[in-house]
Amino acid sequence: MTTTEQQSIVAARAVNATKIYGTGDTEVRALDGVDIRFQQRQFTTIMGPSGSGKSTLMHCMAALDSLTTGQVFIGDTDLGTLGDRGLTLLRRGRVGFVFQAYNLVPTLTAMENITLPMDLAGRDFDRQWVDHVVSTVGLGDRLTHRPSELSGGQQQRVAVSRALATKPEIIFADEPTGNLDSQTSSEILAFMRQAVDELNQTIVMVTHDPMAAAFADRAVFLVDGGIHGEMPNPTADQVLDYMKNIGG
Ligand code: ADP
Repeated sequence: MTTTEQQSIVAARAVNATKIYGTGDTEVRALDGVDIRFQQRQFTTIMGPSGSGKSTLMHCMAALDSLTTGQVFIGDTDLGTLGDRGLTLLRRGRVGFVFQAYNLVPTLTAMENITLPMDLAGRDFDRQWVDHVVSTVGLGDRLTHRPSELSGGQQQRVAVSRALATKPEIIFADEPTGNLDSQTSSEILAFMRQAVDELNQTIVMVTHDPMAAAFADRAVFLVDGGIHGEMPNPTADQVLDYMKNIGG
C-alpha cells in the first residue's frame, strides 16, 4: 500500500445518522442525517453552538449511545449489528473515550488507572506499547501517585493515556480541556497532537475553544444536528470567524 492509501483509511464513519430524543411535542432531533468520515491518523475537532448535537454524535460513534436511524461504523464494523456483548468488547478494545471530568479511580495510582481497562478485561496487554504511551505522557514519578495528588492537567494526561493504552482504532474526547486553564489545556492538546503524529492514533474531539481547534488537522462544524461545513488545518482566527457566523 502507498502512504496515500494508508492515510485515507477510514477509522470510523456515520451514515445518515439520526438521533431523536423524546416523542411528539417534546421531540428533539439531536442528529439529523449526519454523514461523516474520520480518517486514520487524523486529529479532527467537532465544533458548533451549544445544543448542535456534538456530544450526541460522539456518544453514538463511540457506542455509548445508539442512533434512532442510520449507521455508525468503527472500521468495517456496523455497530447496529452488534449485540450487548459485542458492543462491550468494542468499547473496551477498539474505541477510547476521554471525558471533561477525568473519571479516574481515586484509590488507584496514575499507572494503575492507565492499565485499568486491560486489567478489567483480564487480558494480556502490549507492555511495550503501554511503556511507550507512559514515556510520552511525561508524568515521571507522578505515575505512582493517586489522582488527588495530581493537578487537573496531570489527571487529564492520565485519562488520555488510559484511552491510548488499549491501542484503540479511534479516540473520542468530549471537551477534554473544558476544566483546564489555557496553559494546561495547551499541554494536553500538544500531548493529543503527539499521540496522532508519533503514536499514529486517530482522535476526534469536541471543543468550544478555537485555540484548541488549532491543534487539529480538520474542524467540522455542526448546526442543528447537521454538518454545516468543515475546514482543513484550522487556525484559531478562522475558527472564531466561522463560529461567529453560525452563532457559536
Ligand atoms: P452539544 O453537545 O452540541 O451541546 P447535544 O448533543 O448535547 O449538543 O444535544 C443536542 C440536542 O439534543 C439538544 O437540543 C439537547 O437538548 C438534546 N438532548 C441531548 N441529550 C438529550 C437527552 N438525553 N434527552 C433529551 N434531549 C437531549
